[in-house]
Amino acid sequence: MTTNQNTILLPEMKEIWQETLNWQPDKTQQQIFQSIYDEILAVNPHLNLTRITEPNEFWEKHLWDSLRGVASLLPSVNSPPKIIDIGTGGGFPGLPVAVIFPQTSVSLLDSTRKKITFIDQLIAKLGINNVETIMGRSEEIARQKQHRQNYDIALIRAVGSASVCAEYALPFLKIGGLAILYRGNWTDKEMEELKPGVKQLGGEIESVEQFTTPLSNSIRHCLYLRLISPTPAKFPRGVGVPAQHPL
Ligand code: SAM
Repeated sequence: MTTNQNTILLPEMKEIWQETLNWQPDKTQQQIFQSIYDEILAVNPHLNLTRITEPNEFWEKHLWDSLRGVASLLPSVNSPPKIIDIGTGGGFPGLPVAVIFPQTSVSLLDSTRKKITFIDQLIAKLGINNVETIMGRSEEIARQKQHRQNYDIALIRAVGSASVCAEYALPFLKIGGLAILYRGNWTDKEMEELKPGVKQLGGEIESVEQFTTPLSNSIRHCLYLRLISPTPAKFPRGVGVPAQHPL
């Protein structure tokens, strides 16, 4: 894709990538990030994909934050993992993950048709061929045979409370699979409240990582939930129930 006069350039931040994630984008990956940014900015007034449009903020809160949750993990995974991003919106965190880990297969799920249509057009335009999209509610899709217990990693950011995210994510995982819940603040009290629900879903909280974002020093947490036994068939509950009556 070409840049034109009106393009707002994303920063490269090579040193920060290197220092924080021990990785930096090559020229092609930087161009793809730029194109994702350009395309999101172009449709954002109509589709309302994100309120984060300023280039440094987009870099930090969409690109860096998306990759921070998985960067240390994916290089050590042996066989190419199957990943699902639940409530992906404009493609975060799943799309940057697919760009830098072309060996993964990434499914981007959202219940809003116009967002999925946008992502379909975007991946076709950019030639990203390790991404597929799924349109629907997580509570329904997770009951479909081809999706239930079918993924190694489930990503979920800004979709609901931690308990709701756990109920959405764990039914998609194979035994031994990992759900990564991207959170802002996280307290011991929230941790205690989350534990019983995760147990009911067949999982355990394996670890919680706290970090600060590199430009604005905002607090972030990633919760890593491991599925240790099959999620009982009654989960996820019907559409809307996890949010109305969290476990
Ligand atoms: N994950 C993206 C991010 O962090 O930028 C988007 C977050 S946006 C606040 C929440 C998204 O989750 C929306 O696009 C919404 O359509 C989707 N969503 C909410 N509940 C859902 C559900 N039960 N199943 C599928 N998608 C859902």
